[in-house]
Amino acid sequence: MANKRDYYEVLGVQKSAPEDEIKQAYRKLALKYHPDRNRGNAEAEEKFKEATEAYEVLRDPKKRAQYDKFGHEGVAGFEGFGRGAYSDFSDIFGDFDLGDIFEGFFGAGFSGGGGRKKARRGADIQYDLTITLEEAASGKEVQIEVPRHETCSTCNGAGTSAGTKPSVCPVCNGAGQIRQTQGFFSISQTCYKCRGAGKIITNPCKTCGGNGLEVKTRKITVKIPAGVESGSRLKISGEGEQGPGGGVRGDLYVFIHIKKHQVFERHGNDILNIIDISFPLACLGGEIEVPTIMGKKAKMKIPPGTDNGHIFRMKGNGIPYLGSYGRGDQLVKVNIYVPKKLTPRQKELLKEFSQIDEEKVGSAKRQFYSE
Ligand SMILES: [Zn+2]
Ligand SMILES: [Zn+2]
Repeated sequence: MANKRDYYEVLGVQKSAPEDEIKQAYRKLALKYHPDRNRGNAEAEEKFKEATEAYEVLRDPKKRAQYDKFGHEGVAGFEGFGRGAYSDFSDIFGDFDLGDIFEGFFGAGFSGGGGRKKARRGADIQYDLTITLEEAASGKEVQIEVPRHETCSTCNGAGTSAGTKPSVCPVCNGAGQIRQTQGFFSISQTCYKCRGAGKIITNPCKTCGGNGLEVKTRKITVKIPAGVESGSRLKISGEGEQGPGGGVRGDLYVFIHIKKHQVFERHGNDILNIIDISFPLACLGGEIEVPTIMGKKAKMKIPPGTDNGHIFRMKGNGIPYLGSYGRGDQLVKVNIYVPKKLTPRQKELLKEFSQIDEEKVGSAKRQFYSE
C-alpha cells in the first residue's frame, strides 16, 4: 500500500477535478496503455491496471470521498475490483465508435459499428486466350465466354426463397455484434452466427443457396490490339466477379497466348520465313512470290547469283508496332533446294553444265598455275 501512487497523480488530474475531467483523463490513459495495443509490454500493462484502479475509485463519489479522507487505506476494502469485476466500459467509450477503437487492437477480425455488413469488391478473373499470329498482327475483336459470379436472378441477391424474409439472428438479437468481457474490458465483436448482418436466412433461395450469387457464363467482347505480344495482359474493367454484399465487380484480365506459326517466326516486330528456290533461279535471278502475314502474297526479286541462306528484307511487312504507327519487316531467308529426282533431259543438261563449269574452272586453274 505504501508504494501506491496517488490516484489523482496516476490520472494526472487535480484533486478538485470534476467527474468529466477524470473520465477524460482515464480514457486517454486506457487507450494508450491498453494491453492489446501493447502486447508483451509489462510496464504498459501495469500502467493500465493502475489507471483503471484509480478511475474505479475516483468515478464513484462515495469511494472518492473515502479516498480523499483516508487515502488508499480508505478504499482497501474494494481491492480486487479492477481485476475483472468491471464489466462495462460503455460509459467511457460510449461516444466512440467501438469499431474504430478496437480495429487497431484486434485486427481485421473485429468489425465494429452497428453490425453493418460491408460491401466488398469482387475478385478479379484471369482468362487465357490463344490467338494466331495473323490475329496478333491484324488485331481482332474476339468474343470469349467467361463463367463468373453474378447477383442471383432468382432472389435478386437477397438469398431468401420467394415470399420469405430473413429472421432476426437469435445469437445477437439483430445487433450484428456480441458484447464480450475480456479481462476488465467489455468489447463488441461481430456475431459469429450472422457475421454482422443481424439477420439469418432460414429459407435460403434454391438457386444460390443463400449467398445471393449465381454462376453465369457471359459473352464478353475482347478487343485485341494489333501488335500484341504473347504474354500480354488485357484489362477489362468491371467484368470480374460480383462483389459480395452489393460490392463493385472485380476486373477481367485476358492473358494473350500466340500459337506457333507454321511458316512465320516472330522476332519482336519482324517476322522471318524461309523460302525454297531452285539452283537455276539462284544463279539466274528472277521474281518469286512470298506469303505475308497480311495474307496476300508479295512479289520479291531474286538477284542473279543469290547465295544459299541469304536473307532479304521486305520493309514494312512485319507486325505493327503496338499503339503506334508503322510495322516491322519481313525477313525472307533463301534456301536453295537440291532436286532428288531428275528427268533424263535434266541430267543431260546438268552434265553439260558441269563439263563447261569444270573446263572454265580448270582453265582458270591452269592459267593460275602456269604463271
Ligand atoms: Zn438466390
Ligand atoms: Zn447475429
